Amino acid sequence: MKRLSRKPGLVLLLATLACLAGTVTRGAPAQPDWSKVDEETLRHYQALLRFDTSDPPGNEEPAAQYLKQVLDAEGIPATLYSLEPHRVNLVARLKGSGKKRPLLIVGHTDVVNVDPAKWQFPAFSATRNGGYVYGRGSLDDKDNVTASLMAMLLLKRQQVPLDRDVIFLAEAGEEGTTRVGIQFMVGQHFPEIDAEYCFAEGGNVTRIGGAVKYASVQTLEKIPRAIELVAHGVSGHGSVPLKTNAVVHLAAAVAATGAWKPEIRLNETTRAYFTRLATVSAAEDAARYRDPAAADDYFLDHEPRHASMLRTSVSPTVFQGGYRVNVIPSEAKATLDVRMLPDEDPAKFLDAVKRVVNDPTIDVHYAQRDTRPGAANARLDSDAFKITEAAITKHYNTTTLPTMSTGATDMAYLRAKGIQCLGVGPAIDFEDGPKGYGAHSDQERLLESELHRFVHFYYDAVAGIAGTGAAPAASGSGSRGAK
Ligand SMILES: [Zn+2]
Repeated sequence: MKRLSRKPGLVLLLATLACLAGTVTRGAPAQPDWSKVDEETLRHYQALLRFDTSDPPGNEEPAAQYLKQVLDAEGIPATLYSLEPHRVNLVARLKGSGKKRPLLIVGHTDVVNVDPAKWQFPAFSATRNGGYVYGRGSLDDKDNVTASLMAMLLLKRQQVPLDRDVIFLAEAGEEGTTRVGIQFMVGQHFPEIDAEYCFAEGGNVTRIGGAVKYASVQTLEKIPRAIELVAHGVSGHGSVPLKTNAVVHLAAAVAATGAWKPEIRLNETTRAYFTRLATVSAAEDAARYRDPAAADDYFLDHEPRHASMLRTSVSPTVFQGGYRVNVIPSEAKATLDVRMLPDEDPAKFLDAVKRVVNDPTIDVHYAQRDTRPGAANARLDSDAFKITEAAITKHYNTTTLPTMSTGATDMAYLRAKGIQCLGVGPAIDFEDGPKGYGAHSDQERLLESELHRFVHFYYDAVAGIAGTGAAPAASGSGSRGAK
């Protein structure tokens, strides 16, 4: 998935205002000897980064086998599932008392492709340099895979008493081939991953100038759709202009849809997002965040992602028409990238687009696209959200912003099945994205210290959500519990 970036000047650090909502405090789970655990974390992270799981073709099998072998050695049962050869998903489960429904923790083992010439260190070398680990997947999403793995190992070793099962899903195919990954698992093996809550990618903690500014937890995402505009006219010789020229009609339609500002609608997530963002922002920015609808024009000019968060968005992205200079073509076609608010009515929205186009020679319809199902947001008043927020406060001492992604993740499939999903991730430097070190960039890296902080946070959050809150059976802090 694509990480978000935000304008740095917007934000003032006001960590003391963290936690607008009440926190749920539970007894901290038994803590391991973190210095030893950190070494182990780094070893697994580097091992995972060294598998070339570029998708396409994917080939997640060696990574899944590696995870299985680590879990097997710890006595945690893991099963492999694949729809196609070498596209392997792994599911492992720690049993709880069954008092509550399971918690699912998810990471994807595939990564996007690389251009090897652009990499300072080879993309699958997991090179350590200057406090960073470099490698494709270091941010997307082998950080979450590693944190999930470590949570499983530590819950087992520390013998944390669980009120619910914790299920680890290391999935294939997130980067564009979901049919072999989340769609396959939800469609054919759902009982193996069915849960009340889930953790997956999609959030992160933003650092600016090396200081933590806020944490984003993804609780909702927009739904990608595609709309095609097809203009039909009379073909003819280019030397004789025609009023029916399909290219001219299409150009006007594309201009109209591009300039259109669909209706603004906030939801629970975006309302909380802007309200909380205001508390960590400078006065001028804060005023806009307190009334985001009124700041729409400013957002369109200066913070376009925020404008997109207010509405179903439309971006014309493809324009096709004509094949030689002296022929007026009879047809021209454009495609709009539409990102729907989760509560949008697709039929009504298509009617609205037709009204904007307002041209009987243009056919307006939905086109095929790898879309995601729509679903309601993860509740902000759930125990899982509050425990996650408390763990963020503990480890990052900052405000948690619930976010609606303008992009799409595999959580959509899980939310559509009723699972409350929260997107989390490690702290990354805001400045690193523009330098070309972000997810899907020509280079990718994560600070080792932030990998470790993320694993510590993740363990506390998972143990908080799934644990009984009681002391562990054995006082094994600092040593490995019985296998
Ligand atoms: Zn991803």
